Parts: sequence; C-alpha cells; structure tokens
Amino acid sequence: MPIKIENLTHVYMPGTPFEKKALDNVNMVINDGEFNVLIGHTGSGKSTLIQHINGLLKPTSGKIIVDDIDITEKSVKLSDIRKKIGLVFQYPEYQLFEETIEKDIAYGPTNLKLSNEEIHNRVKRAMNIVGLDYETFKDKSPFELSGGQKRRVAIAGVVAMEPKILILDEPTAGLDPSGRDEILFQIKKLQKEYNMTIILVSHSMEDVAKVADKIFVMNKSKCILHGSPREIFSEVDTLESVGLAVPQVTYLARKLREKGFNVSPDIFTVEQAKVEILKVLGRAEND
Ligand code: ADP
Repeated sequence: MPIKIENLTHVYMPGTPFEKKALDNVNMVINDGEFNVLIGHTGSGKSTLIQHINGLLKPTSGKIIVDDIDITEKSVKLSDIRKKIGLVFQYPEYQLFEETIEKDIAYGPTNLKLSNEEIHNRVKRAMNIVGLDYETFKDKSPFELSGGQKRRVAIAGVVAMEPKILILDEPTAGLDPSGRDEILFQIKKLQKEYNMTIILVSHSMEDVAKVADKIFVMNKSKCILHGSPREIFSEVDTLESVGLAVPQVTYLARKLREKGFNVSPDIFTVEQAKVEILKVLGRAEND
C-alpha cells in the first residue's frame, strides 16, 4: 500500500491576519514496508503533514493517494482510512483513560466491532510487541505505570488496531536514552515482523540513524531532501544550512578518516563506530 503525496499544500486560517502556509507543494512517495522518518525543526510542517495522511486535515490543494484511492476526496470515509492508517500523537499517554491497561488497549479494536476472542488476541499481541507482559500488566491501572510504560500502553492501543501503516509523532519525546531506544526498537520490530509501513516524526538525527530506511527532511513547509540515511548524511552542507546535523559519530568517523585512519565515512550509530574503530585497531570486539 504505497502512499503518494502530490503537490500537497495546506494553509491554516486562510484570509485572516494569521494565515500560515504550513505545507508548500510537498511531493513524496512512501513505499510499502519501509521505515520512513520525517525530520525537521519545530514549525517545519511535520505534524501538519502526518495529519493529512490519516485524513484528520484536508489539504488546501493537492492529493494523497493510498492504495490507488485519493483519500482527500469527500466520498472517502474517515473510518475506512483509520482502519488502514494508525496515528500515535505526541505524548499519547495523556489520552489513556480506562481503569485497566487491558481495557485501554482494547478500546480501538472494540470499536472495530471484532469478536471478543479477536480483541483479546490483538490486545495480547500488541502488549507483547511493546514489551509489556500480559499477565503482569493487564489488570493494572495505566496510572500506576512509569512514563515510558504509559507511552508503550498508548502505542499498543493503536498497534492493536493492526493498521498497515503506522504514523508516530515524536514517540521518543521526553524519554531517557534507554527508554528512547526501547521504543525505537519495538517500532522497528513492528516494521520487520508485520511488514508495517512506518512514518515516524523526529528531530533527533541520532534516533533516526538507528532505524530509518528513508529520511525526508522538512524545512519551512517544504520537503527539501529525501533518501536513504547514507544519501541524506552525505548532504552535510544542506543539513547544516537548515540547522540540522549528521549524527555525532558520523562527524567523528569522517574526522578519523581525514587523519588517515581507514574508517568508513558511512557510520551513523555508536555500535557501527565501535565495530569499525576496533577493526582499524586490529582488535576483535571481545578482546
Ligand atoms: P512541526 O510539526 O514541524 O513542528 P507543524 O505542522 O506543527 O510543524 O506547524 C507548521 C506551521 O503551521 C507552524 O508555523 C505552526 O505555527 C503552524 N500551525 C500548526 N498548527 C496550526 C493551527 N492549528 N493553526 C494555525 N497555525 C498552525
């Protein structure tokens, strides 16, 4: 189910003194089963864009084609879009409201009018994916949990709808580094095991480098770059001109290379750097 975004423009409050063009003629193709990251500064248009992809906002002009259907057409039912495309908002834990975790995660599937058995199975599967043991957590109140656990319950609620496309707006915001990595790797697992298409909004290059197949760089309402991490991280000047940077370890690797060490310039994560530097030093990882 590829997504084609064609000439998408969105103007907030047109015709008023507060008029703001939040998206300006954006074109993108999002392939099936890929992990896509939208990166850019606050105000660059990322949230506005993803809200169009699940039908929450309508464009001022342009199209969004999902499965050969233009979902911006009036005749397309929002409920049909939402079955295929799930959206996890920023700080989704603020939307938890049921008295138990099981009921909270079951809320979406219950609205899909599935059988009780199917709902139960989906809740268990979703909890397993986000790393919450079903028996331990099902009867707990969401409010007894830590911040990172609450976030996982909220994500499980959308995952339990089993969408083909999952959009997440800054799912790592406000978490500590280990909490961030856990969430990122659980989302990566969803992509791999369920062949889900992921669209993740982030402003951390370090996060992105660990998981992305494709990166779309947003700046001032436009998509200015798109490509694989390797392609994007070779555009250092363009990234720096819009106040973004390549991951810190990539700078380090390139500096080492300038100094004559035979280190690959395509190192984006600390793990890769470790392997590469040990190789240069002629040592195995467990030495
Ligand atoms: P990002 O997600 O990259 O931070 P947004 O899509 O939230 O960017 O915002 C893009 C631009 O649109 C910003 O200038 C923002 O102030 C403006 N904007 C966002 N939401 C609204 C709204 N509901 N009404 C008016 N302007 C908005």
